[in-house]
Amino acid sequence: MAIPYDAIVIGGGHNGLVAGAYLARAGRRTVVLEARPKTGGAADTSAPWPDHPDIRVTTYSYVMSLMPSTIIHDLQLERHGYRVFPMGPYYQAWPDGRSLKLYADNARTNHDAIARFSAADARAMPRWDAWLARLAKVMGPLLMSVPPRLGSTRPRDLRDQAQLAWRLRGLDPGAVGDLTRLFTMSITDLLDDWFESEEVKASLAVNGVIGTWAGPDEPGTAYVMAHHSIGDVGDGHLGSWGFPEGGMGAVSDACRRAAEAFGAEVRTDARVTTVLTRNGAAVGVVLDGGEELQAPVVVSCIHPKTMFEQLVPAHELPDGFRRAIATWKSRSGVVKINLALAELPDFTADPGRQVQDHHTGSVELCFSPAYAERAFQDAREGRPAARPFVDGVIPTVFDRTLAPEGVHVFSMFTQWVPHTWTQQPHREELEAYADRIIDLYTELAPNLKGAIIARQVIGPHDMEQELGLIGGNIFHGELSLDQLFHMRPAPGYADFRTPLRGLYHASSATHGGGGVCGIPAALAVRQIERDQRRERWRRRILRRGDPDPDLGA
Ligand SMILES: Cc1cc2nc3c(=O)[nH]c(=O)nc-3n(C[C@H](O)[C@H](O)[C@H](O)COP(=O)(O)OP(=O)(O)OC[C@H]3O[C@@H](n4cnc5c(N)ncnc54)[C@H](O)[C@@H]3O)c2cc1C
Repeated sequence: MAIPYDAIVIGGGHNGLVAGAYLARAGRRTVVLEARPKTGGAADTSAPWPDHPDIRVTTYSYVMSLMPSTIIHDLQLERHGYRVFPMGPYYQAWPDGRSLKLYADNARTNHDAIARFSAADARAMPRWDAWLARLAKVMGPLLMSVPPRLGSTRPRDLRDQAQLAWRLRGLDPGAVGDLTRLFTMSITDLLDDWFESEEVKASLAVNGVIGTWAGPDEPGTAYVMAHHSIGDVGDGHLGSWGFPEGGMGAVSDACRRAAEAFGAEVRTDARVTTVLTRNGAAVGVVLDGGEELQAPVVVSCIHPKTMFEQLVPAHELPDGFRRAIATWKSRSGVVKINLALAELPDFTADPGRQVQDHHTGSVELCFSPAYAERAFQDAREGRPAARPFVDGVIPTVFDRTLAPEGVHVFSMFTQWVPHTWTQQPHREELEAYADRIIDLYTELAPNLKGAIIARQVIGPHDMEQELGLIGGNIFHGELSLDQLFHMRPAPGYADFRTPLRGLYHASSATHGGGGVCGIPAALAVRQIERDQRRERWRRRILRRGDPDPDLGA
């Protein structure tokens, strides 16, 4: 027999769990349905090596920054185990023995470090930081706002648009100009306007290409840099990144505990195969195996292509929406490599196998913006990068819950292989690609190769098969200009509603995503609450015989 709920959430990644927590907190009888045997999606911790069951890695995503303190506070995540160690500096070493360390909050040290590469850049860096901080003040509130429902003339949507315009009032022409530059420029061009040293620019270009199917020369990558540079978007300040204790899976676990503490039911091995509809509204779901669950609210926290091309009957969706989903771009060419190490990398530029500052931050492999661009061009031409770009971190320098004493985990986020590698495992080529990365790091830290105890290489095919990341994009869809704000995931449907009444979409493919931030889920539940309040109000007014308020005057 069908079980009636107030709300059903499809997908038990962190967004699904955050949505479940907020819905249950509002008193709704809620169930979160996860296809896999475990919750967390791309925010996961696992023990991948049967020979080393006591070594755990943060499987896919690896650092936290974007989750607003409002969500952490509302869901009492700290009470449920959420704890983050702030990351150390950005670190890049060069084979000739030079290195650069940049700290998030130490202008004096940064000045001296940068001056060894360029005195002009050392002077420019504080101005750049201030410039980004000013932009964060504008972008933060935008990321926490529901985007306008394009094309709608309903009074309530027009009111929302007016409110958004009101929030943006008083933006001076300089800020508008800066925002326009940010949204339209390549990170290479933007950095060329500020800095002269390729080494310094490399450190800032990295954030512009994380998860993108675009090299740093591509327009729009300046925005990706800003997306990854903003910290607590609720406060709109620039943030530093951090390692969650217990890996990213611990963040998901905290979200799950919060959801369950508020009364949500969380089911694993519960794959949704169909969304049930009646008279243009979602009314429930069918699970693999045939079980039916009913609810007046269904929240999708899975990839939009799976949701709207497989689960929702095509005839329920307007042509324009279906076209937008069909042309949704979801490429990355990302490969994640996790290494277990018997000792820390001993860098020629900064010798030592004991924990030092440079081990505590991101240990980059990106010698210049041109280096990253070359890696992308290889993949665009259909080959894995000969010299890949890597954002590496060693969370075990802080988090000793992941591995036994003396053992470290080196988590490498790497780009690019051809995005079409979702279609086949490409196992041998992936292993060769990982070998090249290890060789490149070993040129900088000669002990690295010999210190490897075990390794795991996860390619686009694995991510699509395991997690449902269609096309391999780590954010369920590219952060490209045509897929941001009012366009995410489709024009006219960026307000977390969908063409079906009662059906909402809140995965990383919606506004505020991607990243492990919970913003899509929090905003979607805010929208659900508002819709339900308005519906109750509308019914009350209609009972009194007044004109329908939503039809306007
Ligand atoms: C390699 C990699 C590195 C990353 N690094 C970072 C990082 O360091 N920091 C950061 O902030 N972000 C990072 N990201 C991005 C971030 O992890 C994602 O944006 C975010 O985790 C997505 O969360 P989600 O809940 O929207 O979706 P997901 O985590 O993708 O969860 C969706 C869930 O839905 C389930 N599902 C799918 N279909 C169904 C169905 N039919 N029925 C039921 N359940 C279903 C899936 O099994 C999955 O568990 C990274 C991602 C990857 C892949």
